[in-house]
Amino acid sequence: MIKVYHAIKPNFGMGEHPEFNETNFELVAEINDDSSISSAFTMTQNLDRAWKHNAGVKAIKQECRSTSVGDVAVKDGKAHRCEMFGWSEIDQKEYFTCEDCGTKVNMNEVTDDGCPHCTG
Ligand SMILES: [Zn+2]
Repeated sequence: MIKVYHAIKPNFGMGEHPEFNETNFELVAEINDDSSISSAFTMTQNLDRAWKHNAGVKAIKQECRSTSVGDVAVKDGKAHRCEMFGWSEIDQKEYFTCEDCGTKVNMNEVTDDGCPHCTG
């Protein structure tokens, strides 16, 4: 599965890319096709219809713009930033919302014990 995160305040590549974290990005789609990261782009474009109707795409938000430069897709735990041409892997980890405590947790913080906010 590929998860697609959109920048909440997109700058479409003008200036610094926002850091990939829970403040700057929101999960918008889960794609049931992990053949290649490029499908994260093609499957989330509003063309003749909204991309939420595409087969194999689970829209997390109902109203979404098309994926564009600066957005992030995560596949196999690796984050990739959408560039003008294609995707480049970035050295920033995904975050998630803990089901137990509701805290947003960066994957960098997760240990073998799981969520650092629940343990200890
Ligand atoms: Zn927790």
